[in-house]
Amino acid sequence: MKEQIDLLIELQDIYNAIDTLTAKRVDLPQALQRIGEELECLKRELQEDEDRAGALKADHKNKETALKNNAEQIKKAKGRLLEVKTNKEYEATLKEIDAIQAKSGEIEDEIIRMLDAIDSAGEIVKLRRNATNERRAACEEEMRKMKEELESIDSELAKVQQKRDAVRSRTNTGVLKKFDMIKNRKSGKAIVPVWKAVCYGCHMNIPPQMYNELQRNDHLVLCPHCERIIYWENRGTDA
Ligand SMILES: [Zn+2]
Repeated sequence: MKEQIDLLIELQDIYNAIDTLTAKRVDLPQALQRIGEELECLKRELQEDEDRAGALKADHKNKETALKNNAEQIKKAKGRLLEVKTNKEYEATLKEIDAIQAKSGEIEDEIIRMLDAIDSAGEIVKLRRNATNERRAACEEEMRKMKEELESIDSELAKVQQKRDAVRSRTNTGVLKKFDMIKNRKSGKAIVPVWKAVCYGCHMNIPPQMYNELQRNDHLVLCPHCERIIYWENRGTDA
């Protein structure tokens, strides 16, 4: 019976491995998608910062152009002052010059206020770009590993399934039938160790007589509480 129990322990490990691989085949694509979404989000945030900095720069440039145009207009108006014939015309031109100068003063104030914003927007873009590049490199490495793992799952699964069939073929039919039945009923866990009279399936105590019986390994014993197949496993100094 010891040999049959060993086969069942091996079989349980194989089923655990199959479950892990099957779960990974579902989880990995989801994890890949999450990382892909994170990268998209980082890209979008960087783009937004770049747009903001770009808009400020464009605004600054427009204001500089407006100042230049104003200076041009003032120059022309001053030229006209030399040619005007009447007092009224002279005053009107002076008024025009004043208005343009006032407008230019406002624009200059706005430019001064903008410079800090332009600097900090540029700084934000720089920081964001560095952080994004760093995170992107880490994500890409993570994704590469996940894809590699995902690609190997099918072949690994095939290998484990082959091993499962080999172990099953060596196991006694009656024992196997019992194992399968318990495995189905107990969500995949059919055989569990017992150490110091505690069942590791349900953490309940095994009666002393049953514990002694278990250590003899001469027939299949079920835990009286969780009804899984139990076996004695020496985990340390004293039993
Ligand atoms: Zn139990």
